[in-house]
Amino acid sequence: MNKLVLNSESLNNVLENKLISRDEIIQIYNKSKNNPNELFLTAQSLRKQFKNDFVTFSKKAFLNIINLCKDTCSYCTYKSEPSEPKLSLMSKQEIKQLLYLAKKHRCVEALFVTGEQPEQKYQEAREWLKANGFKTTAEYLVHSSEIALDTGLFPHTNAGNLNKEDLKELQKTNVSMGLMLENISERLTEKGMPHHMASSKKPKTRLKVLENAGELKIPMTTGILVGIGETPVELIDSILAIRELHKKYGNIQEVILQNFQPKPDTRMNNVPPADENYFKTIVALTRIIMPKMNIQIPPNLSPNSYHSFLSIGINDWGGISPLTPDYVNPEFSWPEIKKIEQDSKNAGFELKCRFPVYPEFFPLVNKELRNKMKDIEDEEGLIIKEYWR
Ligand code: SF4
Repeated sequence: MNKLVLNSESLNNVLENKLISRDEIIQIYNKSKNNPNELFLTAQSLRKQFKNDFVTFSKKAFLNIINLCKDTCSYCTYKSEPSEPKLSLMSKQEIKQLLYLAKKHRCVEALFVTGEQPEQKYQEAREWLKANGFKTTAEYLVHSSEIALDTGLFPHTNAGNLNKEDLKELQKTNVSMGLMLENISERLTEKGMPHHMASSKKPKTRLKVLENAGELKIPMTTGILVGIGETPVELIDSILAIRELHKKYGNIQEVILQNFQPKPDTRMNNVPPADENYFKTIVALTRIIMPKMNIQIPPNLSPNSYHSFLSIGINDWGGISPLTPDYVNPEFSWPEIKKIEQDSKNAGFELKCRFPVYPEFFPLVNKELRNKMKDIEDEEGLIIKEYWR
């Protein structure tokens, strides 16, 4: 029985594990805007109740396979044009070399990232694929994932809106995959809004890919972007959409909450970063909407305060690389793993390393991949400490 009793009846209902309605969630948000204490206490209590007393991360290498992209989001600095120095078109040899280095650094995850269907728009992408012996980026990702497995790393692919056949192929080698929902609001695709030039970010299209992944039972990472011009209700609806997906398919393994940070070379360079209090309220709200979900914030995007999110509901730091930059947020380097470990410890949480798939989703992973994982797995389904430290 939970002993915490609050003034808010809705939050007391949450503590008693009752499902709350959209209206109640909006009410909680509105009441918490000026004083979020009760919301934070509830989120903390639920985290204690449903999650372990440690915080996890995934030790990874970020493989920036191809950063040409057919779309343009107003906040994105990852995407490159063919003429830009940041262009990345990794050859098979470069992929092999980086994977080998990652293994040497005792990384566990090979994160494969690409722009959205680059070969649809760019001749350079088609030539690059041909030179490496492939017709589509998805085929190349299948091949790269096989190399990662052979090297002793576990692939997690985030390549935008893959079709169902490609998801099915990649499922053979990827222990999990990722696709950010970003936001469920159509309004953000209107003229002047951040997703106007990005047809792949149309909520219906995005949801369809997540539905396909659900039907295939792929452990999926998804999430939302906070502070790109959305309203709080649009954020709440986005979190509720993720809750619905998980209720229907049971395959959403974690929710990333990413706070917007303006990038100098983008259209949104003058938009202020997501307000920290607003972001924290959304983080805590996500915990009360999905009490058992794995909830992650990227520590590099809140470099001075990330540890304080441990007391409002998060239980994961996401992928951290000891050897590659965060190509999506290149100006925010990841803190050293040792620093994250110390900051987590100071906040009362031991840092543990996980696979790119959370232990509770192991039953969705095929037998062959599960067998490969066992070499570095401890009794909790996490990475043997002596391996990653
Ligand atoms: S966020 Fe993704 S889809 Fe949007 S421009 Fe960047 S790479 Fe393309």
